[in-house]
This record gives sequence, structure tokens and C-alpha cells, in this order.
Amino acid sequence: MPSDSALRIVWIYPDLLSTYGDQGNVLILDQRARKRGIPVQTIYVRSSDPVPDSGDIYLIGGGEDRPQILAAERLRRDTGLQRAVHRGAALLAVCAGYQIMGTVFGGEEGQPVQGIGLLDIESSRGPARAVGELAAEVDAGLGGQMLTGFENHMGVTRLGPGVRPLSRTVVGTGNGDGTEGCHAGKVVGTYLHGPALARNPWLADVLLSWAVGPLAPIDDGWYNRLRDERLRAVLPA
Ligand code: GLN
Repeated sequence: MPSDSALRIVWIYPDLLSTYGDQGNVLILDQRARKRGIPVQTIYVRSSDPVPDSGDIYLIGGGEDRPQILAAERLRRDTGLQRAVHRGAALLAVCAGYQIMGTVFGGEEGQPVQGIGLLDIESSRGPARAVGELAAEVDAGLGGQMLTGFENHMGVTRLGPGVRPLSRTVVGTGNGDGTEGCHAGKVVGTYLHGPALARNPWLADVLLSWAVGPLAPIDDGWYNRLRDERLRAVLPA
């Protein structure tokens, strides 16, 4: 990020994909950057508008099958997000948004729908809806903390050799194979809502540090109380 400009946080398609408060991920990143004196510009890109390729951190959320298919079609045609990620921008993709980042996902009747291929994953409809709280141990390469969040999806996701699992599930379904989410380069995908970055401020800081470099510590008391409460509710004592 050039020192004379603000950190550009881009929220993709608030009109199509933003279930369970996923848009809160923008607010968390914005607040955690500002607390450290980093100026922020938030950009909300509706599905009728082009995705700028000059952002620093991109966010996309979850949604129903039909808006998910529409979003995938538009992103495939637009290519702004793909250009930004290839240039080195960071991306957090949640649930439907996560599936879209793969090569293929399951549509309304389970039919294969083409994704945009930013992650080496394939999703399809699973045997049953995965709904409820999830807790998972995070990949040591990303700090090895606990991941906490809420999931609600039909899809299951198979990870290819080009990605690493984000975490190993302790409670919940995630990808459906004992792992939850994945990461590759500066792209992170997860099934988790909550919103994910309010539940997992360490993940917000991973994204911020990819964009701006090392970060000063800030008071995480409020976040930690929320995390502890949710983890205590689901983890075996
Ligand atoms: N439609 C997708 C699925 O059911 C994503 C759901 C979501 O984003 N909550 O797997």
C-alpha cells in the first residue's frame, strides 16, 4: 500500500451476498485499521458495478443458491477481483463466496456451476445441511488459534493440492472432511459467519498485515469475551 493513500477495503456484491451479518467483516477490518492510525477507504461494489482491481483487501459473503450463481456469473465476466488477487491483494471469502472462488460448486438442483478458480477447490451439494456452531484448530502457518463461527450450508468442499486447510474441525462440519476453510497465498476461504472477523480478530489482523505489514497490538478484551463465550458453549469441558 502506498504510504500516502488509504487502505482500500472492497466489499463485493452487498446486494447479492451478505447473510448472517457477513458485512460486519468490513466494519471489523475498518475499525482495527483505524485504531492503529491506518486511514481506510471502504468501497461497496453492487453487482451492477465493475469490481475495481486496485483494492488492498477484498471481502465477499454468503448467500442463497440463486444470488450465488448470479454473483459467480458476474465475477467471471468482470475479472476485476481475479486481476486484484493476481496482483497480490488479500481476499476473505465466506460460504457462498468461498465456494465461488473454486473451480465448481453445486447450484439449486445440485447442477455444477463454474466458479472463478482463485482457489483449488471443488464444491458440491452434501448429504445434509450443515447448520450450527463450529470450532476448529487453525493451521499453524496462520497462527494456530481456535476458529469459531456459525455455519449454514448444503455444500461440501474438496481441497486440491494448491490450497491448505484453514483449520481442523473439533465441532461442526466445515468442508465435510474434517477440515474447515482453506488458504493459498493471500486468499482465505471459510464457511463461517458470525461475522467471522468479529469472532476471530486474529484472522482480521492476518488480512491487515498482508496488506500493510506488521501491526501494533490493540486491546482485544471485547473480542476475547465473545470468543470465549462461544467456544465455551461448544467445546467439551
Ligand atoms: N448456497 C450455498 C450452500 O448452501 C451457500 C450457503 C451460504 O452461503 N450460507 O452451500
